[in-house]
Amino acid sequence: MRIGVVGAGLAGLVCAWRLHREGHDVVVLEARDRVGGRTWSTALPDGTVVERGGEWIDADQHTIRGLCAELGLPLAPHGVRFHRRRLDGVVPDLAALEATLTAVAAQIPEDDTTVAAAFAAALGPGYAADPAYLRIATSTAGDPARASARFHVARADGARVDAAARVVGGNQRICLSMAAELGDRVRLATPVTAVDARDDDVVLTTGGREEVVDRAVVAVPLALLEHVRWIRGFPAAWQRGLDGIATGTAAKLSVPTRGAVAPDGVQAPGESWWSWTSRDPAGDGAVTATSCFAGSAAARDRLAVADGPATWVDRLATLRPDLDLVAEQALLTDWQREEWTRGGYSYVLAGRAADAAALLAEPAGPLVLAGEHTAGAHSGTMEGALRSGVRAAQVAGTVSR
Ligand SMILES: Cc1cc2nc3c(=O)[nH]c(=O)nc-3n(C[C@H](O)[C@H](O)[C@H](O)COP(=O)(O)OP(=O)(O)OC[C@H]3O[C@@H](n4cnc5c(N)ncnc54)[C@H](O)[C@@H]3O)c2cc1C
Repeated sequence: MRIGVVGAGLAGLVCAWRLHREGHDVVVLEARDRVGGRTWSTALPDGTVVERGGEWIDADQHTIRGLCAELGLPLAPHGVRFHRRRLDGVVPDLAALEATLTAVAAQIPEDDTTVAAAFAAALGPGYAADPAYLRIATSTAGDPARASARFHVARADGARVDAAARVVGGNQRICLSMAAELGDRVRLATPVTAVDARDDDVVLTTGGREEVVDRAVVAVPLALLEHVRWIRGFPAAWQRGLDGIATGTAAKLSVPTRGAVAPDGVQAPGESWWSWTSRDPAGDGAVTATSCFAGSAAARDRLAVADGPATWVDRLATLRPDLDLVAEQALLTDWQREEWTRGGYSYVLAGRAADAAALLAEPAGPLVLAGEHTAGAHSGTMEGALRSGVRAAQVAGTVSR
């Protein structure tokens, strides 16, 4: 059977890689001139590898950890407290964090509420200065006044173990390894403009050419689904499944530092961005670079990301006086402006129907949907992207029309 996969991020590649290993004839059509999508690793001038997209691999994310093991890719710990970032010079106390999250969870009604409303109900008007609130608001990368408390506060619950890791040499190696095995089955710079699910096959249109396959897996970001022309209409069940999720806003900044520092994580007071210095894979201290993540349209605006790195670098210098920044080598990644992503990652809106995510996992005739936004409880993560790709491979490899 010939299976076409649209998108060579984690979801599309793991799907194609598994199908290829099972003996299917696969072709991966990727719009960019590189694989990896939102995993994108770059070496700074001194050789320090930084992540421009997906970075943190949690302790309980077993699919990505298992795949790294399968591919022979070593993981190194960040050595940074992701959940208890230093705020105004203080590392939040674990017991206090637990108490806050328990109090907030108690304020979430059966039919859900927003992250902002749940924190306001539990903590009162000063909630926006709380470290747990800032951590969750930043990671959600959406609007806390719309984001689901049931989804995003509950997620914080499972992740109090701070043992996150990343791939030595960069998370993009996961994609590069699978793409290497797939060889010329991966076609770069080949955006798919139209999908036509006919009676007996699927036609994928790419720059005037037509690729005819038996089944197609569409693994492009949520924000780009509407940029594909669905010749016979976008499947109705998938449209219902997309209700209640939105694409957030995310940007990253990495700046080399002079001299080694200790691993650390620092949250910007009152704002949805933070900075960290991860442990060197050798374990001696922190790498000679800091990375920052800004999540939400408001944070992107306040840091003037659209105008380049200057404002953010200035703000970083104030937040991290302990770092000697090499400002002129700052590396900014604005995912809003990435033509083939157009945003950060998906987040769940308050009140999303409990069964909506499951609709995205169902095939629509010969079409299968994949990508982090289809991963239900794991959406918004690399783990979720991989889980969706593995699921899509199982479905595409067996589904009958
Ligand atoms: C700034 C940032 C920080 C993040 N941090 C973390 C983190 O710390 N931990 C974590 O687990 N996750 C993190 N994530 C999320 C994680 O990176 C994503 O969930 C995951 O990489 C998404 O994989 P994907 O395969 O679903 O999508 P993508 O990686 O976006 O892959 C989709 C692919 O489709 C291609 N494409 C788009 N349109 C077309 C078309 N028409 N035709 C052909 N190809 C097309 C794109 O070029 C892309 O290669 C972060 C994301 C961002 C942006």
